[in-house]
Amino acid sequence: MVHKFNSATEAEILDGRTSDVYFERSLNAASSVDYEGKVVSEFTVSGPLDTWVNFSGLDEVISILKDKPVNLYAIPEGTIVNPRDSKGIPVPFMRIEGEYEAFGRLETAMIGFLCQSSGISTYSSRIRLILKETPFYSFGIRRMHPAISPMVDRAAYIGGANGVSGILGAELIGEQPVGTMPHSIALLMGDDKAWQVTVEKAGKNGVKTVLIDTFMDEKFAALKVASMFPDLDYIRLDTPSSRRGNFANLIREVRWELDLRSHQNIKIMVSGGLKLEDLQNLKEAGAQAFGIGTSMTLHPFDFSMDIVEINGTPLTKRGKFSGSKNILRCERCMKLRTVPASVAEGSCECGGSMINLLRQFLRNGKMLGNYDTPRQIRERTMTELESLQADR
Ligand SMILES: [Zn+2]
Repeated sequence: MVHKFNSATEAEILDGRTSDVYFERSLNAASSVDYEGKVVSEFTVSGPLDTWVNFSGLDEVISILKDKPVNLYAIPEGTIVNPRDSKGIPVPFMRIEGEYEAFGRLETAMIGFLCQSSGISTYSSRIRLILKETPFYSFGIRRMHPAISPMVDRAAYIGGANGVSGILGAELIGEQPVGTMPHSIALLMGDDKAWQVTVEKAGKNGVKTVLIDTFMDEKFAALKVASMFPDLDYIRLDTPSSRRGNFANLIREVRWELDLRSHQNIKIMVSGGLKLEDLQNLKEAGAQAFGIGTSMTLHPFDFSMDIVEINGTPLTKRGKFSGSKNILRCERCMKLRTVPASVAEGSCECGGSMINLLRQFLRNGKMLGNYDTPRQIRERTMTELESLQADR
C-alpha cells in the first residue's frame, strides 16, 4: 500500500501492523509449539507518578479489541485516580482476559492510545483545576501530526477544555469548533478591515473575538478596536515571546485602560506558548479566557501492559504485581485500594464504602451497553475534579 502521509490506516492498526515486530515474531514461534495461553493482562502507569491521571483513550482500545475473543475491564474514561493506591501498589487501569494470541500483538497500539490520550486529558484537567470557571480552548492540534488531531481534541475536551479548534475533532465530539482570527488575515487586509470582517462574520449572536497584536502595541490597539466595536466580546493577545517582557503586567495595563474608558464588557483572551504554571498569574492579572496549544500535548503517560495470570495461576515478571486485580475507591474519602479481582467491594478506614472502579466493557468481544458520549465523559471529569478539590 502506498502511503501519502506517514500515518497508518485504521485497517493497518487493527491488523497489528503498527506493533513492535517482536510480538509478531515470538507469537509465530509460539503457535508452532504446543502452547496454551489463557492469560490476564493488566495496564498500569510506570510514570510520571507525581500526578493523578484522568484516564482516556479507552474508546480506541475498545475499537481494536471488539469482536476478538476477549473480556475487557477498565476504569471509565474521565475518571481521575492516582497511578498508585494508598499503599503504593500500582493501580490496574485496564484488564484483558483471553488467549494471549487474540490480543498480544496489539499491545503497542493499545498502550499508544492510552499514553497519549490520558496525557492530554490529564493536562487539560489540571488546567481546569487552576482556571476553575474561566474558559479555555485547545489549540493543540497544530503541533501534532494531523492524523491524530481528532484524538488530541477529544482528549482535551473530555479533560475540561470548553472547546477545540479542530474542525474534524469538534465534529467527532459533537461540538462547534472554536476560532478567532489568524494573524494572516490582518497581514492580508490590514487591522481595520480584518477586525471588521471578523466582527461581521461572528454575526449578531456569535462570540466576537479579535486578535489585536499583529502590528500595534496591545494597549493602543485594544483602545482603537474598543472604540470601533464597543460590543466586542473578547480581544485576544497572542503577543510574541520577544515582546513579552512581562505578559501579566501587559494584561493588567490593557485591562486598566479599557476599564477607564468604560469597556468593562470587553474581555481579554490570551494565547501563545502558555503552560500550566503561567495560568494562575495571568488569570489574576485579568485574562478571562485562554487558548492552550503546544503544552497540551507534551505530557504523555508511560502505560505498560503485563501478563499477571496464566491459566488461572498468578504469574508476572520481576517488578510487577501478579494476579488479576480490582481497584476499589472509597466513596467518601476517595482513598484507593488495589485488591485481588475476587474482591469487589470493601469498607474504608474512614467508615465509607469502597466500590470497584473497573467496569466490564467487552464480554467475549461483544460490547456491554452503550458507550458514553464525549460530553458525558467530560461531565464525569467535572464531577471527579469537584471531589478532588474537596477530598484530596
Ligand atoms: Zn474513606
